[in-house]
Amino acid sequence: MLDGILAHARRARPDECCGLLIGRAHDVRGFHEARNTAASPRTRYTINPEDHFAAIRAARAAGLEVVGAYHSHPASEAVPSATDRAEAFPHFLFVIVSLAGPSPVVCGWTLLEGNFAPVRLVRTT
Ligand SMILES: [Zn+2]
Repeated sequence: MLDGILAHARRARPDECCGLLIGRAHDVRGFHEARNTAASPRTRYTINPEDHFAAIRAARAAGLEVVGAYHSHPASEAVPSATDRAEAFPHFLFVIVSLAGPSPVVCGWTLLEGNFAPVRLVRTT
């Protein structure tokens, strides 16, 4: 799954890629690629609503739900930007992939009392 998300990030470069994370609570089982419809996709992302609904349908069909979103930072760190912070909401896992360095960095974040807190990502399979 991580390889798939990294491949999506590399394919979208120099734009940001985005997509949804599907699973149950804190257990992410899959991802669903989405089109980035932001007006300035190199520094922003907006998940295409059709793709968002498709992810919800795919999740429900598998008895799961959309538990988070991922996007890439082609040229900056895997840290939420001011825009990411402004558009975030609670109870969602935000995964950011940075392609800025020699090797990709993947970080998880969640909103806790209005601020982003890091989430440790653990590979279970
Ligand atoms: Zn961002």
